[in-house]
Amino acid sequence: MFDKNISQEKLKSLEFAEAAREQEWKAPSFALKLFHGALDLKLIHPFPKEDPSQKEACDEFLVKMEKFLRENLNPDEVDRTGEIPAKVYKGLAELGAFALKIPIEYDGMGFNQYSYNRIMHLVSSYCGSTAVLLSAHQSIGVPQPLKLFGTPEQKRKYLPRFAQGAISGFALTESEAGSDPRNMSTTAIPTPDGKSFVLNGEKLWCTNGLIADLMVVMAVTPPKIVRGKEIKQITAFIVEGNSPGIEKVCRCSFMGLKGIQNGLLRFKNVVVPRENILLGEGEGLKLALVTLNTGRLTLPAASTAVGKWCLNISRQWAAKRRQWGSAIGEHEAVALKLNYIASHTFAMDAMTWLTSAMADDKHRDIRLEAALAKLFCTEVSSKIVDETLQIRGGQGYETSSSLAQRGMDYWPVERAFRDIRINRIIEGTSEIMHLFIAREALDPHLTRMKPLLSSRVGPLSKIAAAFKMAAFYAVWYPKQWFPSILYLLNLALYLFSLPLFGFILAFKVFLMTTFLVLLVDLTSRVRDSMPLRLRDHMDYVRLASRRLARNVFHSMMKYQQKLESKQSILNRIVDIGTELFAISTACSYAAMLAKDKKQANALELADSFCWDARKRIENSFSEGAENTDRQKLKIAKMVLAKEFEWMENQIIK
Ligand SMILES: Cc1cc2nc3c(=O)[nH]c(=O)nc-3n(C[C@H](O)[C@H](O)[C@H](O)COP(=O)(O)OP(=O)(O)OC[C@H]3O[C@@H](n4cnc5c(N)ncnc54)[C@H](O)[C@@H]3O)c2cc1C
Repeated sequence: MFDKNISQEKLKSLEFAEAAREQEWKAPSFALKLFHGALDLKLIHPFPKEDPSQKEACDEFLVKMEKFLRENLNPDEVDRTGEIPAKVYKGLAELGAFALKIPIEYDGMGFNQYSYNRIMHLVSSYCGSTAVLLSAHQSIGVPQPLKLFGTPEQKRKYLPRFAQGAISGFALTESEAGSDPRNMSTTAIPTPDGKSFVLNGEKLWCTNGLIADLMVVMAVTPPKIVRGKEIKQITAFIVEGNSPGIEKVCRCSFMGLKGIQNGLLRFKNVVVPRENILLGEGEGLKLALVTLNTGRLTLPAASTAVGKWCLNISRQWAAKRRQWGSAIGEHEAVALKLNYIASHTFAMDAMTWLTSAMADDKHRDIRLEAALAKLFCTEVSSKIVDETLQIRGGQGYETSSSLAQRGMDYWPVERAFRDIRINRIIEGTSEIMHLFIAREALDPHLTRMKPLLSSRVGPLSKIAAAFKMAAFYAVWYPKQWFPSILYLLNLALYLFSLPLFGFILAFKVFLMTTFLVLLVDLTSRVRDSMPLRLRDHMDYVRLASRRLARNVFHSMMKYQQKLESKQSILNRIVDIGTELFAISTACSYAAMLAKDKKQANALELADSFCWDARKRIENSFSEGAENTDRQKLKIAKMVLAKEFEWMENQIIK
């Protein structure tokens, strides 16, 4: 399936990742359809509502959590000392904060993903380190994969421990295995009796790793031989944090999130029983990918909370601070920033709650939507914090303790700026998210082409597959040029009737049927119950998704297997898809807020966001048409080859 000209190393990594991905689409995906030219609005509109059976309990929990945090935790103190106080760990455990998504039958709080994200949203608005403590434990640590893939015995044994405050972490990264897990070198070798595995190696940057009672540890188990080829196996183990042989080598210190207990762990002959394998031998990477489908939804919730917090500060400061004779919020440059913060926080809010609800609705495949939400919200929130810092001016750059000592408003924007930056790196860097989304978005095309490219498929089957493909694209492709299938049928009818009725009569009939088609098309749009103000944006999405689908198809035809390494093209495809998803989500959310909650001005926010997103989409389309990629890539090669080393002069290196 991959370009044969790429390096063997890269090919192996790609094949490795490919083997771990979920092959089937068992439920519909709104975003997948968008990439293929179809706007299936009913999958996201009307906007899904919070489960009423959870809402009351979650509301109560949020009140308790807020009270607890205000009374017991000073985030600036955590930032300064690098420690979350012991009483906070204890208090969080008593609240049940380490067992939020654990089912009640295992003594947990029994919250669904939506409620969990509401809780993470609240905590993230207050203290990044505490939010990451809870999220590394519950979004990717032991509870989530155990709930998804654990055996009944494993669940009985471990899940109740989290209600008592046990903390967990997820250990995948190593110094040579960051984005590319195939480089993993920690091994798990079976003991001679086969009852246990012996772990040896080092794990880097494991959040909570230094204090974890339990961890999911990924390690290389003996390879499988498939058709004479050795296939590397990665397996997930539940490991007790106090197992003999685990050395906590050092604590890592970062730009932000000063309170997290993250470090380098060394495993030296650590014995783990076979029954601690999660999902199955060799299934570790698959487990990580599926866990992250919902696990990474914490990041949109956290990003949105920070966006709202920034909106609050920017609003107050832009109204209060006066320069050049007026409030700074009245100067257009600052006003536009306020618009960006408000409208884009609104879009993040929409994406967060849509994807949260989707995760609880087992009739949706959310792998694409979750990845799009992670990518969009982490990128947008970084910009929002940056703009908030700019609105605050020098006081944005000053630490809150320094501001406090001068008797100023001591909003810790500087800390938020440092804390939020990591979100574009963890749980899939933005670059890797682009690749992941592109792979999933192209999947229907790739699946159709697979038999033609496979060396294991015989010539007759190849011919049959080619016919099937041609038949599919003969209908699918022309559809991407028309706003609706009706226009295509109408044109076909006209061409067919030409020889029968002659030009004049056929043309008259064509005009009449075109009028009818227009009428049917317009009434169908009215029926989608989108408020009038936003209908134009949804029409734009309908047409732009077809344009995107055509672009994808043309790129696939042009580059074929080489498309996999054309990241500039793939990135543009993903960026357009992300914005189309954001527009659709924001419109649906605004429609719901205006109708059910009487927040009519939500339509203003959605409208403003959509215009910005449309501009970015048009830029991406035109960048694709201009295609200056080759020149940019040439310069990057020259940089790597030190051809511009002369520019690195007169600096202290
Ligand atoms: C504070 C913090 C907490 C963390 N918590 C955990 C944890 O709990 N558990 C855990 O296992 N790990 C954790 N990590 C590790 C984190 O997941 C990795 O940092 C991340 O996966 C990226 O790996 P890397 O840093 O080695 O970057 P690299 O993989 O070396 O990437 C460097 C840059 O190259 C880009 N890049 C790499 N490959 C490609 C490609 N094929 N195409 C385009 N661009 C590419 C990346 O996007 C990035 O910009 C944590 C890290 C930090 C800093």
